[in-house]
Amino acid sequence: MTTSTKTIERPDIREDISTDDDTPKFFHYVKKDQIVESAVSGKMVVALCGETFPVTKQAKPGSPVCPDCERVYRSLRKK
Ligand SMILES: [Zn+2]
Repeated sequence: MTTSTKTIERPDIREDISTDDDTPKFFHYVKKDQIVESAVSGKMVVALCGETFPVTKQAKPGSPVCPDCERVYRSLRKK
């Protein structure tokens, strides 16, 4: 009697395709009290440029600042 044990080698390769598409490409300026409120309530924040996003989605460190936010921010400071 022969017992044939077949060992199928199955390499455990998992392609780690992480979809980072949700990550914003820019940092947006958001009012501080909105960030605090959003962190507590989970609400979306509204950036100076009008962009809305959950505060959990942060741009990667080193990302450029959103040019629209920058412009609004500067015009606000000129007052
Ligand atoms: Zn922005």
